[in-house]
Amino acid sequence: MLKGKGVSRGIGFGNIIVLKTEERNIEKKIMPAEKMEEELKKFNDALKSAIDETETQLQNISGKEAEIMEAYLMIMKDPSLVVETENAIKNLNYNAEYAVEVGFNSVIQVFENMDDEYMASRARDILDIKNKILGKLLNEETANISNLEPNTIIVTKELTTSETAKLNFKNVSGIITEIGGTNSHTSIMARTHSIPAITRVENATKIFRNGDSVAIDGMLGEIYLNPTEEEKQKLLVLKEQIQKETNELEQYRNMESKTKDGFKVELVANIGVPADVELALKNTAEGIGLLRSEFLYMDSETMPTEESQFDAYKKVAESLNGKNVIIRTLDIGGDKELKYLKLEKEANPFLGYRAIRLCLDNLKIFKTQLRAILRASNFGKLSIMFPMISSIEELRDAKNILEECKRELESENIPYDKNIKVGIMIEIPSAALISYKLAKECDFFSIGTNDLIQYTVAVERGNEKISKLYSKFHPAVIKLIKEAIDGAHSQNKFCGMCGEAAGDELYIPLLIGLGLDEFSMNSNNILKARKVVNNLCKKDCEQLSERILDMASAEEVENELKKFVNN
Ligand code: PEP
Ligand code: MG
Repeated sequence: MLKGKGVSRGIGFGNIIVLKTEERNIEKKIMPAEKMEEELKKFNDALKSAIDETETQLQNISGKEAEIMEAYLMIMKDPSLVVETENAIKNLNYNAEYAVEVGFNSVIQVFENMDDEYMASRARDILDIKNKILGKLLNEETANISNLEPNTIIVTKELTTSETAKLNFKNVSGIITEIGGTNSHTSIMARTHSIPAITRVENATKIFRNGDSVAIDGMLGEIYLNPTEEEKQKLLVLKEQIQKETNELEQYRNMESKTKDGFKVELVANIGVPADVELALKNTAEGIGLLRSEFLYMDSETMPTEESQFDAYKKVAESLNGKNVIIRTLDIGGDKELKYLKLEKEANPFLGYRAIRLCLDNLKIFKTQLRAILRASNFGKLSIMFPMISSIEELRDAKNILEECKRELESENIPYDKNIKVGIMIEIPSAALISYKLAKECDFFSIGTNDLIQYTVAVERGNEKISKLYSKFHPAVIKLIKEAIDGAHSQNKFCGMCGEAAGDELYIPLLIGLGLDEFSMNSNNILKARKVVNNLCKKDCEQLSERILDMASAEEVENELKKFVNN
């Protein structure tokens, strides 16, 4: 059995098709000067044909896939992409194929060296475009992935954007890639289409052969090559179990989210970009509890304008059709960088110049965003949330700027929702500890456990070496959550949570017991979370939380929660 990282749950049986588009031997030729125009034409024809093909594909897709494809097409049409290739033909007299190889590789290298996750994924797109053009130049027959045999398991280094868009998902029963993470495009698409997927399978494209029979477990990341009858049976049982669970979750689709004794909560989604709304609504999100607006900034080559932000927020507001959308203002810094905003290197970025601190210090950036959100609030139900609030002064300052923006819009006769709600993230212990005061001056809280944990136990959230210490079960974290909820409720304000803990089946009973009103999570967890909530009794959860608040160690807390859930 082979093992990789499971990124999309499910069991898949089928036959392998290995997509190998990157291993070509491109011959270097120095062409006679009079052939230069011919080579240039060959290259431009191949580029045009690749663009035409992509445009045709785009007509057959919609939603998130279309958006990814549009961005991809924009790169293809960017004149700066081809300068190096054309120069290699004109100045070095290379044949078109070799010029593409060196020209595109130098662009790819520039992107890869930018040392930025977003840029790294653009480098993959450019590599993909290079392969597409080379395929045209070399008249290669590419595997026809839009016309796959039923029950195909795709094996590839990484499924590229253009390949993903071409895929006929109906016939795909699994995806195995050599690289990629939980949030790579392939993984997101696989989850969207409920296709089992496994990444980080070293040398997968060399190990497997076309036609191999395999069975995969997309949760455990296990791959069985030529599975035995026994292995097949084991996986079939699991497959049936998953199908049963999925079917069972369907009944929660149109239900309210409330406990057996009538405590109603809201199950809402965390999203990054407007395109994520589709998945949120598909999974019956009751609203958006966190729009991480920094993704709009990270997806852009320059600081997004008021107009482009307005368009994005308006789109989300309209798609949600009256359901609440909480837009968090720019939360940059820490582990999130903007390539076009040069910030000084800091010794402790997570304790540094980030989020609201940076916005209050760069009013042009802050006001541009606030004006865009306010203008979009006229088209749906939007709320504004400030991240990383550590003191009442920051909240007051941020609100003053917001008021200034409102006055500006009024003087310009631009409409906005006068009742727009303003909340804050509780993700710093100091804020949790003065929550009673903060709640008097805002409309809601959303607890950000991802950061709250790191600041409470002094463990950097991405540091693998000390990750054991990073625990949502630590009694101190739970006490701070309680402080935040009680603080909000003391002023009749609602308290939500948008950290990862909100979507954790084990943790939900504790949060219900503490009185949390709104749970914001990855869309894929919503139906399951509704099942959990609807099978709980608030009274039992309250007793559970009382017992837990009296505990001294994370281990005790975790065990108590496991005991409760398994009972
Ligand atoms: C959090 O800190 O819990 C949170 C939701 O914000 P982010 O993960 O974006 O820092
Ligand atoms: Mg945070």
